[in-house]
Amino acid sequence: MSSDVTPAAPRSAGHIRLTSHGGGFGALPITWGADTPTGRGPVVGTTTTRLHRNVIGTHSGSYGVYRALAVAAGALSRDHRADLTNTSPTHLIGPHPQWSDPDAIVSLDPWGASVADVFAGEIAAGYDIRPSIAVTRAHVILPEIADAIARGRLRPDGRFLLEGGAALVTKAAIEPVWYLPGVARRFGCTESDLRRALFEETGGMYPELVTRSDLEVFLPPIGGQTLYVFGDAGDLADPSVELTARVHDECNGSDVFGSDICTCRPYLTHAIEECILGAQRGGVGLVSYSRKEGRALGEVTKFLVYNARKRQLGGDTADQYFARTECVAGVQDMRFQELMPDVLHWLGIRKIHRLVSMSNMKYDAITGSGIEVGTRVNLPDDLIPADARVEIDAKTAAGYFTPGPIPDAAELKKAKGRGLDA
Ligand SMILES: [Zn+2]
Repeated sequence: MSSDVTPAAPRSAGHIRLTSHGGGFGALPITWGADTPTGRGPVVGTTTTRLHRNVIGTHSGSYGVYRALAVAAGALSRDHRADLTNTSPTHLIGPHPQWSDPDAIVSLDPWGASVADVFAGEIAAGYDIRPSIAVTRAHVILPEIADAIARGRLRPDGRFLLEGGAALVTKAAIEPVWYLPGVARRFGCTESDLRRALFEETGGMYPELVTRSDLEVFLPPIGGQTLYVFGDAGDLADPSVELTARVHDECNGSDVFGSDICTCRPYLTHAIEECILGAQRGGVGLVSYSRKEGRALGEVTKFLVYNARKRQLGGDTADQYFARTECVAGVQDMRFQELMPDVLHWLGIRKIHRLVSMSNMKYDAITGSGIEVGTRVNLPDDLIPADARVEIDAKTAAGYFTPGPIPDAAELKKAKGRGLDA
Protein backbone atom coordinates (compact mmCIF):
# COMPACT_ATOMS: atom_id res chain seq x y z
CA MET A 1 0.00 0.00 0.00
CA SER A 2 1.31 3.46 -0.80
CA SER A 3 2.38 5.51 2.18
CA ASP A 4 0.03 8.42 1.49
CA VAL A 5 -3.06 6.36 2.29
CA THR A 6 -3.90 6.54 5.96
CA PRO A 7 -4.91 3.10 7.18
CA ALA A 8 -8.55 3.13 8.27
CA ALA A 9 -9.33 2.57 11.92
CA PRO A 10 -10.88 -0.81 12.70
CA ARG A 11 -14.58 -0.36 12.23
CA SER A 12 -16.21 -3.35 13.81
CA ALA A 13 -14.05 -4.04 16.85
CA GLY A 14 -12.70 -7.27 15.43
CA HIS A 15 -15.91 -9.12 14.68
CA ILE A 16 -18.08 -9.18 11.58
CA ARG A 17 -21.82 -9.06 11.98
CA LEU A 18 -23.33 -11.67 9.70
CA THR A 19 -26.38 -10.61 7.75
CA SER A 20 -27.84 -14.10 7.89
CA HIS A 21 -29.29 -13.59 11.35
CA GLY A 22 -32.75 -12.12 11.02
CA GLY A 23 -35.16 -10.10 13.07
CA GLY A 24 -34.01 -6.54 12.42
CA PHE A 25 -35.45 -4.37 15.20
CA GLY A 26 -37.24 -1.38 13.68
CA ALA A 27 -37.01 -2.68 10.09
CA LEU A 28 -40.02 -1.36 8.15
CA PRO A 29 -42.06 -3.91 6.17
CA ILE A 30 -42.25 -3.81 2.36
CA THR A 31 -45.59 -4.70 0.77
CA TRP A 32 -44.70 -4.80 -2.92
CA GLY A 33 -47.40 -3.32 -5.17
CA ALA A 34 -49.30 -1.51 -2.39
CA ASP A 35 -51.01 1.55 -3.85
CA THR A 36 -49.51 4.18 -1.54
CA PRO A 37 -45.86 4.74 -0.63
CA THR A 38 -46.73 4.39 3.07
CA GLY A 39 -48.49 1.10 2.39
CA ARG A 40 -45.60 -0.13 0.26
CA GLY A 41 -42.89 0.96 2.70
CA PRO A 42 -39.43 2.32 1.90
CA VAL A 43 -36.57 0.22 0.53
CA VAL A 44 -33.85 0.41 3.18
CA GLY A 45 -30.51 -0.93 1.93
CA THR A 46 -28.31 1.00 4.35
CA THR A 47 -25.09 -0.60 5.57
CA THR A 48 -24.86 1.58 8.68
CA THR A 49 -27.87 0.79 10.85
CA ARG A 50 -28.06 -2.92 10.12
CA LEU A 51 -31.25 -3.36 12.14
CA HIS A 52 -33.14 -1.05 9.75
CA ARG A 53 -32.34 -3.08 6.65
CA ASN A 54 -35.34 -4.65 4.90
CA VAL A 55 -33.64 -5.82 1.69
CA ILE A 56 -30.79 -8.08 0.54
CA GLY A 57 -27.79 -6.27 -0.96
CA THR A 58 -27.17 -2.54 -1.04
CA HIS A 59 -27.59 0.55 -3.19
CA SER A 60 -25.71 1.75 -6.32
CA GLY A 61 -25.71 -1.56 -8.18
CA SER A 62 -22.18 -2.65 -9.15
CA TYR A 63 -20.77 0.60 -7.75
CA GLY A 64 -21.46 -0.69 -4.24
CA VAL A 65 -18.10 -2.46 -4.62
CA TYR A 66 -16.32 0.87 -5.20
CA ARG A 67 -18.07 2.25 -2.14
CA ALA A 68 -16.59 -0.65 -0.19
CA LEU A 69 -13.13 0.23 -1.57
CA ALA A 70 -13.61 3.86 -0.50
CA VAL A 71 -14.51 2.72 3.01
CA ALA A 72 -11.61 0.23 3.12
CA ALA A 73 -9.15 2.94 2.01
CA GLY A 74 -10.44 5.29 4.66
CA ALA A 75 -11.69 7.80 2.07
CA LEU A 76 -15.35 7.47 3.01
CA SER A 77 -16.97 7.35 6.41
CA ARG A 78 -19.27 4.35 6.82
CA ASP A 79 -21.74 6.67 8.52
CA HIS A 80 -22.03 9.16 5.64
CA ARG A 81 -25.63 10.10 4.94
CA ALA A 82 -26.58 11.66 1.60
CA ASP A 83 -27.67 15.31 1.85
CA LEU A 84 -30.59 15.35 -0.61
CA THR A 85 -31.07 19.14 -0.68
CA ASN A 86 -32.01 20.28 -4.21
CA THR A 87 -31.70 16.77 -5.68
CA SER A 88 -35.43 16.26 -6.35
CA PRO A 89 -36.55 15.20 -9.88
CA THR A 90 -36.84 17.92 -12.54
CA HIS A 91 -39.91 16.10 -13.77
CA LEU A 92 -42.23 14.08 -11.56
CA ILE A 93 -43.13 10.68 -13.06
CA GLY A 94 -46.40 9.07 -11.91
CA PRO A 95 -47.78 7.62 -9.79
CA HIS A 96 -49.39 5.46 -12.49
CA PRO A 97 -51.90 2.60 -12.05
CA GLN A 98 -49.14 0.10 -13.02
CA TRP A 99 -47.26 1.02 -9.83
CA SER A 100 -49.80 -0.78 -7.68
CA ASP A 101 -49.81 -3.97 -9.75
CA PRO A 102 -47.24 -6.22 -8.01
CA ASP A 103 -46.62 -8.12 -11.26
CA ALA A 104 -46.36 -5.15 -13.67
CA ILE A 105 -43.13 -3.83 -12.12
CA VAL A 106 -40.77 -6.27 -10.37
CA SER A 107 -37.26 -4.96 -11.14
CA LEU A 108 -37.27 -1.30 -10.03
CA ASP A 109 -38.76 0.74 -7.20
CA PRO A 110 -41.52 2.95 -8.67
CA TRP A 111 -41.17 5.30 -5.66
CA GLY A 112 -37.38 5.38 -6.05
CA ALA A 113 -37.23 8.95 -7.41
CA SER A 114 -39.32 10.55 -4.69
CA VAL A 115 -38.13 8.94 -1.45
CA ALA A 116 -37.06 12.30 0.01
CA ASP A 117 -40.65 13.45 -0.36
CA VAL A 118 -42.87 10.40 0.21
CA PHE A 119 -40.73 8.97 3.03
CA ALA A 120 -39.82 12.31 4.63
CA GLY A 121 -41.27 11.14 7.96
CA GLU A 122 -39.23 7.93 8.02
CA ILE A 123 -36.06 9.83 7.04
CA ALA A 124 -36.71 12.34 9.86
CA ALA A 125 -37.16 9.36 12.20
CA GLY A 126 -33.59 8.26 11.41
CA TYR A 127 -33.99 5.77 8.56
CA ASP A 128 -31.27 5.97 5.87
CA ILE A 129 -33.47 5.88 2.75
CA ARG A 130 -31.77 6.56 -0.57
CA PRO A 131 -33.20 7.33 -4.00
CA SER A 132 -32.76 4.51 -6.55
CA ILE A 133 -33.94 6.79 -9.38
CA ALA A 134 -32.80 10.31 -10.32
CA VAL A 135 -34.38 12.55 -12.96
CA THR A 136 -32.67 15.58 -14.53
CA ARG A 137 -32.53 17.72 -17.70
CA ALA A 138 -29.74 17.81 -20.31
CA HIS A 139 -28.69 18.79 -23.81
CA VAL A 140 -27.36 15.93 -25.94
CA ILE A 141 -25.06 16.71 -28.87
CA LEU A 142 -24.25 13.96 -31.37
CA PRO A 143 -22.34 14.17 -34.68
CA GLU A 144 -25.02 12.03 -36.40
CA ILE A 145 -27.69 14.57 -35.43
CA ALA A 146 -25.53 17.45 -36.73
CA ASP A 147 -25.14 15.45 -39.95
CA ALA A 148 -28.91 14.91 -40.19
CA ILE A 149 -29.36 18.68 -39.87
CA ALA A 150 -26.71 19.32 -42.56
CA ARG A 151 -28.44 16.86 -44.90
CA GLY A 152 -31.84 18.44 -44.28
CA ARG A 153 -33.42 15.40 -42.57
CA LEU A 154 -33.76 17.33 -39.29
CA ARG A 155 -34.60 21.00 -38.77
CA PRO A 156 -33.75 22.89 -35.56
CA ASP A 157 -36.91 24.33 -34.00
CA GLY A 158 -35.39 26.14 -31.01
CA ARG A 159 -37.56 24.01 -28.71
CA PHE A 160 -36.66 20.31 -29.06
CA LEU A 161 -33.60 20.79 -31.27
CA LEU A 162 -31.37 23.86 -31.08
CA GLU A 163 -29.58 25.59 -33.95
CA GLY A 164 -26.18 24.24 -32.79
CA GLY A 165 -27.47 20.64 -32.95
CA ALA A 166 -28.23 20.09 -29.26
CA ALA A 167 -31.36 18.08 -28.49
CA LEU A 168 -33.15 18.87 -25.21
CA VAL A 169 -33.94 15.90 -23.02
CA THR A 170 -35.26 14.84 -19.67
CA LYS A 171 -33.16 11.92 -18.50
CA ALA A 172 -33.56 9.43 -15.70
CA ALA A 173 -31.09 6.98 -14.14
CA ILE A 174 -32.59 3.87 -12.58
CA GLU A 175 -30.96 1.32 -10.29
CA PRO A 176 -32.31 -2.21 -10.18
CA VAL A 177 -34.55 -3.18 -7.24
CA TRP A 178 -35.80 -6.74 -7.59
CA TYR A 179 -38.93 -8.11 -5.96
CA LEU A 180 -37.82 -11.75 -5.92
CA PRO A 181 -41.25 -13.48 -5.96
CA GLY A 182 -42.20 -11.35 -9.00
CA VAL A 183 -38.88 -11.92 -10.79
CA ALA A 184 -39.27 -15.69 -10.26
CA ARG A 185 -42.78 -15.57 -11.75
CA ARG A 186 -41.45 -13.66 -14.78
CA PHE A 187 -38.87 -16.38 -15.46
CA GLY A 188 -41.23 -19.26 -14.70
CA CYS A 189 -39.13 -20.69 -11.88
CA THR A 190 -39.73 -21.07 -8.15
CA GLU A 191 -38.55 -18.31 -5.84
CA SER A 192 -36.33 -20.78 -3.98
CA ASP A 193 -34.67 -21.93 -7.22
CA LEU A 194 -34.06 -18.29 -8.17
CA ARG A 195 -32.62 -17.45 -4.75
CA ARG A 196 -30.37 -20.53 -4.77
CA ALA A 197 -29.06 -19.80 -8.30
CA LEU A 198 -28.37 -16.15 -7.46
CA PHE A 199 -26.52 -17.22 -4.30
CA GLU A 200 -24.47 -19.99 -5.89
CA GLU A 201 -23.68 -18.30 -9.22
CA THR A 202 -22.32 -15.19 -7.47
CA GLY A 203 -19.95 -17.38 -5.49
CA GLY A 204 -22.07 -17.11 -2.36
CA MET A 205 -22.05 -13.31 -2.35
CA TYR A 206 -25.41 -12.83 -0.60
CA PRO A 207 -26.11 -15.54 2.04
CA GLU A 208 -29.46 -13.89 2.93
CA LEU A 209 -30.78 -15.07 -0.44
CA VAL A 210 -30.95 -18.54 1.05
CA THR A 211 -31.19 -17.78 4.79
CA ARG A 212 -33.68 -14.89 4.89
CA SER A 213 -36.86 -15.86 3.04
CA ASP A 214 -38.57 -13.01 4.95
CA LEU A 215 -36.56 -10.49 2.89
CA GLU A 216 -38.23 -10.43 -0.55
CA VAL A 217 -36.41 -7.48 -2.13
CA PHE A 218 -32.87 -7.75 -3.57
CA LEU A 219 -30.65 -4.89 -4.77
CA PRO A 220 -28.54 -6.79 -7.32
CA PRO A 221 -24.92 -5.71 -8.06
CA ILE A 222 -25.62 -5.04 -11.75
CA GLY A 223 -26.04 -2.04 -14.02
CA GLY A 224 -29.40 -0.37 -14.37
CA GLN A 225 -31.02 1.76 -17.03
CA THR A 226 -30.93 5.32 -18.31
CA LEU A 227 -33.91 6.96 -19.99
CA TYR A 228 -33.72 9.84 -22.47
CA VAL A 229 -37.04 11.59 -23.15
CA PHE A 230 -37.45 13.94 -26.12
CA GLY A 231 -40.45 16.24 -25.64
CA ASP A 232 -42.79 16.36 -22.63
CA ALA A 233 -42.23 13.36 -20.35
CA GLY A 234 -45.79 13.87 -19.09
CA ASP A 235 -47.06 12.74 -22.53
CA LEU A 236 -45.49 9.27 -22.22
CA ALA A 237 -48.49 7.95 -20.30
CA ASP A 238 -51.03 9.41 -22.72
CA PRO A 239 -51.81 6.80 -25.41
CA SER A 240 -53.33 9.50 -27.63
CA VAL A 241 -49.92 11.22 -27.99
CA GLU A 242 -47.65 9.60 -30.60
CA LEU A 243 -44.79 7.82 -28.83
CA THR A 244 -41.58 6.91 -30.66
CA ALA A 245 -39.47 4.56 -28.54
CA ARG A 246 -36.32 2.47 -28.63
CA VAL A 247 -35.19 0.03 -25.94
CA HIS A 248 -31.43 -0.25 -26.45
CA ASP A 249 -28.98 -2.64 -24.83
CA GLU A 250 -25.51 -1.31 -24.08
CA CYS A 251 -22.73 -1.95 -26.60
CA ASN A 252 -19.74 0.09 -25.49
CA GLY A 253 -17.62 -0.84 -28.53
CA SER A 254 -20.12 0.59 -31.01
CA ASP A 255 -22.16 3.05 -28.89
CA VAL A 256 -19.10 4.95 -27.64
CA PHE A 257 -16.10 3.92 -29.74
CA GLY A 258 -17.74 3.48 -33.15
CA SER A 259 -16.62 -0.12 -33.73
CA ASP A 260 -18.23 -1.23 -37.01
CA ILE A 261 -18.88 -4.94 -36.38
CA CYS A 262 -22.46 -4.31 -35.27
CA THR A 263 -25.34 -1.89 -35.80
CA CYS A 264 -25.69 -0.63 -32.21
CA ARG A 265 -24.61 3.01 -32.53
CA PRO A 266 -26.24 3.51 -35.96
CA TYR A 267 -29.48 2.17 -34.48
CA LEU A 268 -29.16 4.33 -31.36
CA THR A 269 -28.54 7.57 -33.28
CA HIS A 270 -31.21 6.68 -35.86
CA ALA A 271 -33.65 6.22 -32.95
CA ILE A 272 -32.67 9.60 -31.48
CA GLU A 273 -33.32 11.19 -34.88
CA GLU A 274 -36.74 9.48 -35.01
CA CYS A 275 -37.48 10.63 -31.42
CA ILE A 276 -36.67 14.26 -32.28
CA LEU A 277 -38.86 14.08 -35.41
CA GLY A 278 -41.64 12.53 -33.29
CA ALA A 279 -41.44 15.32 -30.70
CA GLN A 280 -41.50 17.92 -33.47
CA ARG A 281 -44.70 16.31 -34.85
CA GLY A 282 -46.34 16.91 -31.48
CA GLY A 283 -45.46 13.52 -30.03
CA VAL A 284 -42.86 12.35 -27.53
CA GLY A 285 -39.71 10.23 -27.90
CA LEU A 286 -38.04 7.76 -25.52
CA VAL A 287 -34.72 5.92 -25.57
CA SER A 288 -34.36 3.40 -22.76
CA TYR A 289 -30.71 2.34 -22.42
CA SER A 290 -30.02 -0.84 -20.47
CA ARG A 291 -26.62 -1.74 -19.09
CA LYS A 292 -26.46 -5.22 -20.57
CA GLU A 293 -23.13 -5.15 -22.35
CA GLY A 294 -22.62 -7.75 -25.09
CA ARG A 295 -26.01 -9.43 -24.74
CA ALA A 296 -25.38 -9.33 -20.99
CA LEU A 297 -22.39 -11.65 -21.47
CA GLY A 298 -19.85 -8.87 -20.91
CA GLU A 299 -17.14 -7.53 -23.18
CA VAL A 300 -14.56 -10.26 -22.56
CA THR A 301 -16.95 -12.92 -23.87
CA LYS A 302 -17.99 -10.61 -26.70
CA PHE A 303 -14.42 -10.07 -27.94
CA LEU A 304 -13.68 -13.82 -27.67
CA VAL A 305 -16.72 -14.44 -29.90
CA TYR A 306 -15.49 -11.86 -32.44
CA ASN A 307 -12.20 -13.77 -32.76
CA ALA A 308 -13.99 -17.13 -32.99
CA ARG A 309 -16.23 -15.76 -35.75
CA LYS A 310 -13.43 -14.27 -37.78
CA ARG A 311 -10.99 -17.21 -37.42
CA GLN A 312 -13.44 -20.01 -38.21
CA LEU A 313 -13.07 -22.03 -41.41
CA GLY A 314 -14.84 -20.16 -44.21
CA GLY A 315 -14.62 -16.77 -42.53
CA ASP A 316 -17.24 -14.67 -40.74
CA THR A 317 -20.63 -15.85 -42.01
CA ALA A 318 -24.17 -15.13 -40.85
CA ASP A 319 -25.08 -18.84 -40.69
CA GLN A 320 -22.52 -19.33 -37.88
CA TYR A 321 -23.22 -16.04 -36.08
CA PHE A 322 -25.31 -17.40 -33.18
CA ALA A 323 -23.43 -20.72 -33.06
CA ARG A 324 -20.10 -19.00 -32.29
CA THR A 325 -21.64 -17.11 -29.37
CA GLU A 326 -23.15 -20.32 -28.05
CA CYS A 327 -19.79 -22.12 -28.27
CA VAL A 328 -18.14 -19.54 -26.04
CA ALA A 329 -20.97 -18.51 -23.71
CA GLY A 330 -23.21 -21.59 -23.62
CA VAL A 331 -26.20 -19.50 -24.75
CA GLN A 332 -26.87 -17.25 -27.74
CA ASP A 333 -28.03 -14.35 -25.65
CA MET A 334 -28.27 -13.62 -21.92
CA ARG A 335 -30.26 -10.39 -22.03
CA PHE A 336 -33.61 -12.07 -21.36
CA GLN A 337 -35.99 -9.23 -22.15
CA GLU A 338 -38.50 -10.37 -19.49
CA LEU A 339 -37.64 -7.52 -17.09
CA MET A 340 -37.18 -4.81 -19.76
CA PRO A 341 -40.84 -3.65 -19.99
CA ASP A 342 -40.90 -2.71 -16.27
CA VAL A 343 -39.45 0.70 -17.00
CA LEU A 344 -42.13 1.32 -19.63
CA HIS A 345 -44.80 0.52 -17.03
CA TRP A 346 -43.08 2.83 -14.55
CA LEU A 347 -43.54 5.61 -17.11
CA GLY A 348 -47.23 4.68 -17.42
CA ILE A 349 -46.85 3.74 -21.11
CA ARG A 350 -49.78 1.87 -22.65
CA LYS A 351 -49.04 2.32 -26.34
CA ILE A 352 -45.85 2.70 -28.43
CA HIS A 353 -46.85 4.10 -31.80
CA ARG A 354 -43.43 3.69 -33.41
CA LEU A 355 -41.07 1.06 -31.96
CA VAL A 356 -37.56 1.68 -33.33
CA SER A 357 -36.30 -1.89 -33.03
CA MET A 358 -36.07 -4.97 -35.22
CA SER A 359 -35.72 -7.39 -32.28
CA ASN A 360 -38.53 -9.91 -32.04
CA MET A 361 -37.50 -10.64 -28.43
CA LYS A 362 -38.00 -7.01 -27.40
CA TYR A 363 -41.25 -6.76 -29.38
CA ASP A 364 -42.62 -9.98 -27.80
CA ALA A 365 -41.66 -8.84 -24.28
CA ILE A 366 -43.30 -5.41 -24.71
CA THR A 367 -46.54 -6.65 -26.27
CA GLY A 368 -46.61 -9.65 -23.91
CA SER A 369 -46.59 -7.23 -20.97
CA GLY A 370 -49.75 -5.56 -22.26
CA ILE A 371 -48.33 -2.57 -24.14
CA GLU A 372 -49.71 -2.03 -27.64
CA VAL A 373 -47.16 -1.54 -30.44
CA GLY A 374 -48.09 0.19 -33.69
CA THR A 375 -45.44 0.50 -36.42
CA ARG A 376 -42.04 -1.21 -36.15
CA VAL A 377 -39.26 0.97 -37.56
CA ASN A 378 -36.27 -0.87 -39.06
CA LEU A 379 -32.73 0.45 -39.42
CA PRO A 380 -32.35 1.95 -42.92
CA ASP A 381 -29.98 -0.15 -45.08
CA ASP A 382 -27.60 2.74 -45.74
CA LEU A 383 -26.86 3.01 -41.98
CA ILE A 384 -25.62 -0.60 -41.71
CA PRO A 385 -21.78 -0.72 -41.62
CA ALA A 386 -20.28 -3.21 -44.12
CA ASP A 387 -18.77 -5.43 -41.39
CA ALA A 388 -22.16 -5.56 -39.58
CA ARG A 389 -23.91 -7.23 -42.56
CA VAL A 390 -23.16 -10.63 -40.94
CA GLU A 391 -25.03 -9.62 -37.76
CA ILE A 392 -28.06 -8.11 -39.47
CA ASP A 393 -28.44 -11.06 -41.91
CA ALA A 394 -28.20 -13.57 -39.05
CA LYS A 395 -30.77 -11.66 -37.00
CA THR A 396 -33.32 -11.16 -39.78
CA ALA A 397 -33.00 -14.87 -40.68
CA ALA A 398 -33.65 -15.67 -37.00
CA GLY A 399 -36.88 -13.67 -36.87
CA TYR A 400 -35.90 -10.02 -36.45
CA PHE A 401 -38.35 -7.64 -38.08
CA THR A 402 -37.48 -6.47 -41.60
CA PRO A 403 -39.63 -5.00 -44.35
CA GLY A 404 -37.07 -6.31 -46.88
CA PRO A 405 -36.18 -9.85 -48.04
CA ILE A 406 -35.17 -12.49 -45.48
CA PRO A 407 -31.78 -13.97 -46.44
CA ASP A 408 -31.91 -17.65 -47.49
CA ALA A 409 -29.50 -20.44 -46.46
CA ALA A 410 -27.13 -19.83 -49.39
CA GLU A 411 -27.00 -16.12 -48.64
CA LEU A 412 -26.16 -16.81 -44.96
CA LYS A 413 -23.15 -18.93 -45.92
CA LYS A 414 -21.44 -16.12 -47.84
CA ALA A 415 -18.52 -14.70 -45.86
CA LYS A 416 -19.21 -10.99 -45.38
CA GLY A 417 -17.23 -10.08 -42.30
CA ARG A 418 -13.76 -8.58 -42.53
CA GLY A 419 -10.78 -10.73 -41.49
CA LEU A 420 -8.81 -9.91 -38.32
CA ASP A 421 -5.81 -8.59 -40.25
CA ALA A 422 -7.75 -6.42 -42.70
ZN1 LIG B 1 -23.02 -3.71 -30.82
